[in-house]
Amino acid sequence: MILLGPPGAGKGTHAERFSRRHGLDHISTGDMLREAVRDKKKLGLKAKAFMDRGRLVPDALVIELVRERLLSGNTSKGFVLDGFPRNLKQARDLERMLKGIRREIPWAVYLKVSQATVLARLGGRRVCENCGRIYNIPNMPPRREGVCDKCGSALVQRKDDEAETVHKRLKVYEEETQDLIEYYRGQRLLREVRGDGSLEEVQGELDRVFLEDRKG
Ligand code: AMP
Repeated sequence: MILLGPPGAGKGTHAERFSRRHGLDHISTGDMLREAVRDKKKLGLKAKAFMDRGRLVPDALVIELVRERLLSGNTSKGFVLDGFPRNLKQARDLERMLKGIRREIPWAVYLKVSQATVLARLGGRRVCENCGRIYNIPNMPPRREGVCDKCGSALVQRKDDEAETVHKRLKVYEEETQDLIEYYRGQRLLREVRGDGSLEEVQGELDRVFLEDRKG
């Protein structure tokens, strides 16, 4: 599955939980890039300047990351793509890559949310600096303030969640990524899920779509 939607729609949160529930591989290009930055890898150094400014990292870098991951063999039960593809070029390259390993895109899910929800979620988002788990103040807080429930490390605000960069990221989404919704709709692969609801509501809706699709 491909999860689509603006920054702050809940893609990371739901991709992580959904893939855990169904035994799928969670492939988040944002997480992979942040890890490369943290580990001071060559790719990370190249990507950082784009990420800090809320711009897209060049396609070739991201596509290579996804290619390696898809070929790594961890995806045999299926996967959730979170944050990829981000534009038409990436979508077409993904199709080529999947064809190469004899897989198809079963469906793309559009997490539809209002602008107000996006702004509130991005402003309140905190992430674990160690394992990347996502929290939200006040809607999805950790049990202990500032501490990750899963691994006990400190929670931080992503640099690109600061107000000025958020504005840029939303603009990039409108200009480059939004078209993918029509692209997948045109291929009859699109499912829409209302992302404004509570964690449990959105989760329930995603599972319903998933099970229906399996039956179909
Ligand atoms: P995310 O965690 O998905 O919001 O991604 C954070 C940042 O990583 C984005 O603002 C981009 O700078 C970069 N990034 C993540 N995925 C991609 C992608 N598929 N193509 C280009 N840049 C990406």
